[in-house]
Amino acid sequence: MPAPTFQVTKCAACKRDRWHAITELANLRASGVEKFNQEHPGYTGSLAIITASTWLRVIWQGGKAADSRTVWILGGEFARGTIASDIQKAIAARTEMPGASLPARIRVDWKHREVAHVWETGLQQDLYDLAQDTHHHPVKCSRPKCSAPLFIATKLPRTYCRNCKNWGISQSKQRYEDANRGRHKRGGKKHA
Ligand SMILES: [Zn+2]
Ligand SMILES: [Zn+2]
Repeated sequence: MPAPTFQVTKCAACKRDRWHAITELANLRASGVEKFNQEHPGYTGSLAIITASTWLRVIWQGGKAADSRTVWILGGEFARGTIASDIQKAIAARTEMPGASLPARIRVDWKHREVAHVWETGLQQDLYDLAQDTHHHPVKCSRPKCSAPLFIATKLPRTYCRNCKNWGISQSKQRYEDANRGRHKRGGKKHA
């Protein structure tokens, strides 16, 4: 059985892991915007990279706000909001709309029985796929000093990201030893 025609397995811009761009964007700081834009040109379309990053952090937290931000990104809702004033001007002037605010097109492959949206931006495509993917979960690493705490887990629960896994193990080992010594009261010492 060949892989589904529409399934994306690698980042289109740099051929790295499928989910690295959206994860990198979620963890992005202002100082990293330019580099991200160079590596993934047009990934967020007309949505400002820094805004997309802020919304992704909300999505990573889950809940109702995550649902609405996902709809904003997928539906191009920001075009009707107050954030992208240049888009509003474009609407007022009846000029060409920037790509990301166009509704998604549909493509169909009857041979493989696939119907898919053709999204205007990589971000929309990734978010659309991630939102439906029951094997990949946006979660936050629990290590307070983690440098890129938002990641995508393939199994739940996941407390620590790949980089902090060993740190987490040493922490629980330490807690175990402390408890065995019987000198520390519950909730006493913190290791962070
Ligand atoms: Zn990439
Ligand atoms: Zn971490």
